[in-house]
Amino acid sequence: MEKLTLVAPVEGWVAPLEEAPDPVFAERMLGDGVLIDPVGSTLHAPCAGEIVSIHDSKHAVTLRCDGGAEVLMHVGIDTVSLRGEGFQAHARAGQRVAAGDKLVSFDLDLLARKAKSLVTPVLVTNGESYAILDRLQGKTARVGDALMQLRVGAGAVVGSAAAANGPEARRSLIMPLVLGLHARPAARVAECARGFKAEIAIHAFTRQSSARSPVGLLSMGLRGGDEITVVARGPDAVAAADAVAALIASGMGEAVVGPRVEAPPTPAAPISGPRTLQGVTASPGMAIGRVVHLRSEEIASEEKGRGFEAERIALGEAVARVRERMETRAKTAPDAMRGILRAHLAFIDDPELSASAHNNLVAGLSAAAAWRDAIGGFIEALRSLSNRRMAERIDDLVDIERQVLRALAGEDEEAIALPSGAIIVASEILPSQLIRLDADRIVGLCTARGGPTSHVAILAAAMGLPALVAMGDELLAAPNGATAILDADARTLSVLPDAAALEHAQLSLARRQEKFAEARAASAEECRMTDGGRIEIFANLGAVNEAMAAVENGAEGCGLLRTEFLFLDRDTPPDEDEQVRAYQSIASALQGRPLIIRTLDIGGDKAAPYLPIPAEENPALGLRGVRVSLWRPHLLRAQLNAILRVTPAGQCGIMAPMIADVAELRAVRAMLEECKAALKIDTPIQLGVMIETPAAAATADLIAAEADFLSIGTNDLTQYALAMDRGNVELAARIDALHPAVLRLIAQTAEGARLHKRWLGVCGGLAGDLAAAPILIGLGVTELSAAPATIPELKALVRRLNLARCELLARDALKQSSAEGVREVARRFQEALT
Ligand code: PEP
Ligand code: MG
Repeated sequence: MEKLTLVAPVEGWVAPLEEAPDPVFAERMLGDGVLIDPVGSTLHAPCAGEIVSIHDSKHAVTLRCDGGAEVLMHVGIDTVSLRGEGFQAHARAGQRVAAGDKLVSFDLDLLARKAKSLVTPVLVTNGESYAILDRLQGKTARVGDALMQLRVGAGAVVGSAAAANGPEARRSLIMPLVLGLHARPAARVAECARGFKAEIAIHAFTRQSSARSPVGLLSMGLRGGDEITVVARGPDAVAAADAVAALIASGMGEAVVGPRVEAPPTPAAPISGPRTLQGVTASPGMAIGRVVHLRSEEIASEEKGRGFEAERIALGEAVARVRERMETRAKTAPDAMRGILRAHLAFIDDPELSASAHNNLVAGLSAAAAWRDAIGGFIEALRSLSNRRMAERIDDLVDIERQVLRALAGEDEEAIALPSGAIIVASEILPSQLIRLDADRIVGLCTARGGPTSHVAILAAAMGLPALVAMGDELLAAPNGATAILDADARTLSVLPDAAALEHAQLSLARRQEKFAEARAASAEECRMTDGGRIEIFANLGAVNEAMAAVENGAEGCGLLRTEFLFLDRDTPPDEDEQVRAYQSIASALQGRPLIIRTLDIGGDKAAPYLPIPAEENPALGLRGVRVSLWRPHLLRAQLNAILRVTPAGQCGIMAPMIADVAELRAVRAMLEECKAALKIDTPIQLGVMIETPAAAATADLIAAEADFLSIGTNDLTQYALAMDRGNVELAARIDALHPAVLRLIAQTAEGARLHKRWLGVCGGLAGDLAAAPILIGLGVTELSAAPATIPELKALVRRLNLARCELLARDALKQSSAEGVREVARRFQEALT
């Protein structure tokens, strides 16, 4: 049996790892080992080997010992935040060292003042290959004293000694997902890794995880732009490393979801009379129905087991039952649900989760307690990452936890009985709960928590159900069985409405359905206001099939083609010819209607696998939109050439996103002129600017002097004007583009456009908001570009407007002090229209 001794790298008191004031270390997520409370101020090599990495902040060193054990030494806790202050490195990555060589020295006094703790975990991070036979503990060690004895090939988690000893392949790449490796991509990586014999790990900085473990991968908190290395060891190492690296590099094109609000619900007094509650629209529409509470009862379980073997079998059977049920459901579930079920399947088979549950069983816990505690540990780890997108994945773990606990408690998973016309009300709705509900009986969904991008929002939209989220705990006080009116467009749930309100809602629902049918029938007709004023209603597009749907819905052109969506699932940027084909197919589908193509808008919340943006502190304020195009001009040149080659010449206009000043427009125009000259094209091509930054709105007069048109991106303009992240669920209820600050910027933009007689459009989400359209028209907007589905209603509305009334409304809206105030004047205006 091969043994290896690690010596103490620093002088100090040696304590058990569980005493680390950080669960990442205490729960051995990074590996097993000991803690040293240092009295010395130099970190030495604990054995001979090669330095794998020294963190930028120099507080953490990973060493690969001769023989293969990997040792992480992490000086202090949370010392990464010191960004190197007080540290000095004496070695570098890749260097060979002998036991006792100096690696890093540090200022002990400074650390004592500034760090959360000085304790220094010394960990074996590839525990699957090395078991700790013996370790020093409860004693002071001097540098060079024996600290741990390791044995090769006796690991407990994943892989085999054969794999560990096989050939090794490494692939380094930049994490292309701007949102990091969240649940679904982590599940896909794990799925891919399980298809190989090799042991595969992902390394990033001082973190590493088995690629087979989605929980481990999540715990790494990998962010877009992080440099990662896929390390495969075993007979098929090369194929394994290539496959995992290629999968990650492909970007996996997954949408992401927002966080879950953590505060516990506060019981509110039951609602006993008419009450209107507010929420955030997760899926549009209107419904009248009865409140049906979906509660998550506590599932009772014993803490202490009836013996290891009995509990192990019980847990194994329960997990198998849940897995089988998920597999069966995944076969017939709609796409949105299938993705979630696949992620859950990967979680339930997660080797680290199983290992943790197994350890709990060994410690004498019951199957239920072992499972609950194992999941609980990972939930805590995710919480501690303070990454709100990761935090939402806690829902997935809670869902799996509950399903297995129910299976252990012998509770079956038959469909939850519902009365017809149910408006489901819950603190949160787990996907496994939603799948057990009879969809035919549900007319709407409301949750106290969650965000507009949570699972329930995605599923509600896929099921065509109106849904409100983030309604607050008052929602839970709505009595079961109470009549309620859910108006997701107006963001309200009216509980126990009086007879008049109910009658009004019934009429308005019937009218809505009727009006929608009428609007659809008239959607192909031209769109003029009652005074003859022409407003163009265009569609926002991201794919050719949407272009066809847009034409069917009466779109008069495309006011925003989001080109980045055309080229997502790939490793390399599309070349010019491929772009020509893509743009030409959309131009042809539009049958001669204008097509405004936005140049690549990568960065911020939009990832392109083939163009990873270096990690940024504030991606929304960093390299994105036109800044990326000017940073990588060859991409812009290929795109402009491709647009110019679309026939007939002149059908396409060009629009640059995220412009902050006129110099950027000039740079794009200069390149456009070069491209035109090279292609010998002299047809005028419109080059417009998206007004998405307050800077562009404030200087719209200067920009309009040189742009052919302006189109306002209200999604970003709102984010930047209000300084509220457009993806932040906590702020979702307050990010309203009808905020008077945004309207004033739009008014300023309109003034600039008017001064130079440029047409002004809106292509952000506000263009499709029926309450906003008359205000925008009143401010001077003459083109609205919205999602294809909203076009019939938008056109029907515009046909009932006249400019003078819209201008009065806009003036009134600009005087309001809040978005609510603006929505109120908009509501009164719409009422007066009918
Ligand atoms: C906008 O910001 O309003 C916009 C239309 O661009 P995107 O939503 O694609 O960022
Ligand atoms: Mg934008």
